Amino acid sequence: MSSAAVTPDLVIEHRAPIPTWFGVGGGADRLARPRTAAELRRCLEIDPGLRVLGDGANLLVDDDGVGDLVVSLAAPQFTRCEIDPASGVVLAGASVKLPSLINRTTDAGLAGLETLAGFPATIGGAVVMNAGGKYGEIADHLVRVWAVDRSGREHVLERSSIGFGYRASGLNDLIVTAAEFQLSPDDPGRLKSVKREVMEYKRQTQPLAENSAGCCYKNPTLAADLRLPDTEGGARQFARGQRVSAGLLIDRAGCKGMRLGSAQVSHQHGNFITADKGGKARDVILLIDRVAARVRDEFCVELQTEVVIWSRTP
Ligand SMILES: Cc1cc2nc3c(=O)[nH]c(=O)nc-3n(C[C@H](O)[C@H](O)[C@H](O)COP(=O)(O)OP(=O)(O)OC[C@H]3O[C@@H](n4cnc5c(N)ncnc54)[C@H](O)[C@@H]3O)c2cc1C
Repeated sequence: MSSAAVTPDLVIEHRAPIPTWFGVGGGADRLARPRTAAELRRCLEIDPGLRVLGDGANLLVDDDGVGDLVVSLAAPQFTRCEIDPASGVVLAGASVKLPSLINRTTDAGLAGLETLAGFPATIGGAVVMNAGGKYGEIADHLVRVWAVDRSGREHVLERSSIGFGYRASGLNDLIVTAAEFQLSPDDPGRLKSVKREVMEYKRQTQPLAENSAGCCYKNPTLAADLRLPDTEGGARQFARGQRVSAGLLIDRAGCKGMRLGSAQVSHQHGNFITADKGGKARDVILLIDRVAARVRDEFCVELQTEVVIWSRTP
């Protein structure tokens, strides 16, 4: 149950739940839903170390929650969306849901975002981690980003200055408030079939009905050549500097199906860790460490998490 305290211009909820796609974990001691840029700045005055909550699709919150102020940008100011079919320019607030933006832009006959179908995200969360997959990433058609720094200063950052990489951006400490995309005209029917194809691929390969945060680890770049046993008794060779699938490493390390309490490595996709309904975030965190240790022991490869973990202790 959450209670609320009012500062002159801002409501702070106490002991508020943090909804995530894992469906486990604790809440926020303090949560604010600023309605304007001025209220967001007020949040930063209260706690410059505040954490931003998007759709909670890449997030795991430890069972005892977090003490820092958590900010949700769900107010209309941050869910504004303008689509200009003539120019292909799309302006989206940070909390616009990516799947809904994909539907709206494909309906409008604009190409560029349809390859990102099939996963939950807000625009802010997707831009910060450069979400995507084998068909493309969100930075591909991004033009610029509006963001606020920890001292409350607003910035407009052109794509070329942001430093996007694989599941990463140079925006880490900024609070993204909006993003602009340049899309191109295309046939809505063709775009819908691309979208269907991408979603079908995900349905076939990923445990989408389970509670998870999608891929748990980033695909690592190899520090040394690697020989991986294959299922036919042979081996596959990978070269130093090559990016290799974390799911494949987890599979070959024998971790698929591994269970720790209420958390399990998916049988369907080794890079998905799923949480039982009513389970513990701690089980997921321990399983994340155990799988990484197994891969390290087997192949001398370090896995880094893609999922963001919030806890009271660093
Ligand atoms: C079933 C499933 C499938 C998935 N498949 C994919 C996939 O194919 N590809 C992929 O890339 N991801 C995938 N994911 C993970 C997730 O969808 C993405 O990482 C998504 O971009 C997370 O966005 P979010 O809004 O939910 O961010 P959150 O999970 O809420 O937050 C993630 C991080 O971003 C930060 N953040 C959020 N909003 C802002 C903001 N406005 N400003 C600054 N920081 C912010 C948070 O503080 C946190 O550090 C999947 C997840 C699920 C559950």
